Amino acid sequence: MIEEILLNITPHEVRAAFVTDSVLQEIYIERRLHQGLVGNIYKGKVHRVLPGIQAAFIDIGLDRAAFLHVSDLQTKTPDTNIRDMLQQGQDILVQVYKDSLGSKGVRVTTQLTIPGRYLVFVPGMQQLAFSQRITDESVRARLSQMLTVTPAGGYVFRTAAAVATQSELTAESEHLPAAWTDVLARSKSAKVGELIYAEMPIELRLLRDRVTDSITRIRVDQSAAVVQMHAFTKRHMPNLTDRIEYHPSTQPIFDIYSVEAQLQKALHRKVYLKSGGYLIFDQTEAMTTIDVNTGSFLGHGNQEDTIFKTNVEAISVIARQVRLRNLGGIIIIDFIDMSDLQHKDQLLQLLTEALSKDNVRTEVSELSSLGLVQLTRKRTRESLERVLCVPCPVCHQRGTVKSLETMGYEILRELQHTARNFAWPGFSILAAAVVVEYLCTDQAHRLKELELEVGRPIKLQVESTYTQEHYDILPMSEKE
Ligand SMILES: [Zn+2]
Repeated sequence: MIEEILLNITPHEVRAAFVTDSVLQEIYIERRLHQGLVGNIYKGKVHRVLPGIQAAFIDIGLDRAAFLHVSDLQTKTPDTNIRDMLQQGQDILVQVYKDSLGSKGVRVTTQLTIPGRYLVFVPGMQQLAFSQRITDESVRARLSQMLTVTPAGGYVFRTAAAVATQSELTAESEHLPAAWTDVLARSKSAKVGELIYAEMPIELRLLRDRVTDSITRIRVDQSAAVVQMHAFTKRHMPNLTDRIEYHPSTQPIFDIYSVEAQLQKALHRKVYLKSGGYLIFDQTEAMTTIDVNTGSFLGHGNQEDTIFKTNVEAISVIARQVRLRNLGGIIIIDFIDMSDLQHKDQLLQLLTEALSKDNVRTEVSELSSLGLVQLTRKRTRESLERVLCVPCPVCHQRGTVKSLETMGYEILRELQHTARNFAWPGFSILAAAVVVEYLCTDQAHRLKELELEVGRPIKLQVESTYTQEHYDILPMSEKE
């Protein structure tokens, strides 16, 4: 298996493509304008305390105040009341842990952390802790021997720590608390709204958080970033340095493995399966539904077998698309109905397996009697569609537009109505080219009739900026 990362860096946007055996698996897009703030520590001021919802709004110098819930306070007990903990106008150090999604502002916590590659330093914590993904007790025991808690704080071992050496862990256990000491020093003189600790740029963050020894190659199309990345790996992960290469920008880096084309396809509603079946993805505010369909051809053999095979084939495609599209929240999969109970069990097991490779946690429900499965996937970033697209201005998110026939009749009806109410010398119909073409071919006869009926001329005019559903009826000027 060849795992690669292609990094496309421009002044306004950074895109990172994770590719396995030339198939695009995941994409990160960060735009400078909407740069994520997760990990940043700010000096804030309590703007308002809301005891009713046990939360507070914190001014951290952004357009919108940040949201701090009582459960995100560092010192709390089950019956802590936020009113006793915070006062309006009070200065406070907070760290962003969730970017603003949709209409919500950023969420912050006072449980500050300084992350490294193997460790997360937690100021004030008097113990060692482990990532949920380190489940092996012997690994936990071994790691516990390698570090000690400092008076300033403790550490959480990240997944990558399982393969770290003593010297790697020691080095990190020294430089993370040093960074924290810097934060404290800076916070004393800082003004409200000031950024005290900035999360690393995306190219270094990827190296720290997402790159493991299994990555074969990292290609980057900006030489300055390569220099920075090399400096980072030499210090923190030397065996990876040789795998980071500069890709000259003369040839678009996303042309490799046709990543650009694969990315475009990840926005399509319909995804084909090799067997001829297909999937339909529908994303709404509340959830995403994925509908599994057989092609029209069901074959002559055993139907139950064909259906099972199509469902199984759909699973790997769904697992990849969920990750690639970065779907979050509730996802309902509508599998093709099967009657065989063993097949149902197998399907659920395969689905759980396929989703376990995902970096983001996903829960899988039972298969309902109607063949529905509900996935709950942690919402981390905005979905790919939300990052790249806006609601369709043509169909207003219906997904369909009125047909030419419907538009034609609507316009002719409206013209009749206008003629009755206005003593204009004539009428200009402004519409999209396809609509005008339809009116003067298929409806030419009806148009002539209408002209006689209203006793005034009717003129058609193409308005290239109009969409299919958009038209205007205006008075014809005297000159015409
Ligand atoms: Zn549309």
